Amino acid sequence: MNNYSYKIQIGREKSRCRYGQSATRVADNGFKCAHCHGWVNTESGLSGVQNRNHCPYCLWSRHMDLYSAGDRLSACKSPMEPIGLTVKATSKKYGSCQGELMLIHFCTECKTLSINRIAADDDLKTALAVFEDEFQMDAYMRSRLEAAGIVALTSADSAIVRARLFGHAPNLAEILFLASVASSFITQDD
Ligand SMILES: [Zn+2]
Ligand SMILES: [Zn+2]
Repeated sequence: MNNYSYKIQIGREKSRCRYGQSATRVADNGFKCAHCHGWVNTESGLSGVQNRNHCPYCLWSRHMDLYSAGDRLSACKSPMEPIGLTVKATSKKYGSCQGELMLIHFCTECKTLSINRIAADDDLKTALAVFEDEFQMDAYMRSRLEAAGIVALTSADSAIVRARLFGHAPNLAEILFLASVASSFITQDD
């Protein structure tokens, strides 16, 4: 794409935005996932996020935004692969894992990286699979993340990621209780 057509497309994106319409959206309240073809409802009451770009089933996204979340000014519109999890930067002093768990997306076309909130209706098992796949990330992607100042979580963060995705981190009393419940189940099975 040359510079001229790129500018034209940006202009079109802007005018669509101004009138609250987008040709890339099939309907006002959702879109079809470019990756798994599932229907994605974008109403914030379901997802808890304002600008839903990623699919709750496969967690793939589309490259919609250019300058800020929800601006819809990107001309790219290509699928973005979920490549890992990170933690949102926080002003709290408790350590790197205190912030909100976020998805890292990588555009399959223009190679842009973006960080996105995990929505309330996202498939958390898929999020865990994305996190575990991230351990095999290649050197190119690691260097891209490092250059962008994004710290991808590692296998050392497994316990905290599971706790964040599936519930709070259990304290010692709860661990002992869960262990006793588990052993009583084992006894019953025998
Ligand atoms: Zn999908
Ligand atoms: Zn892109």
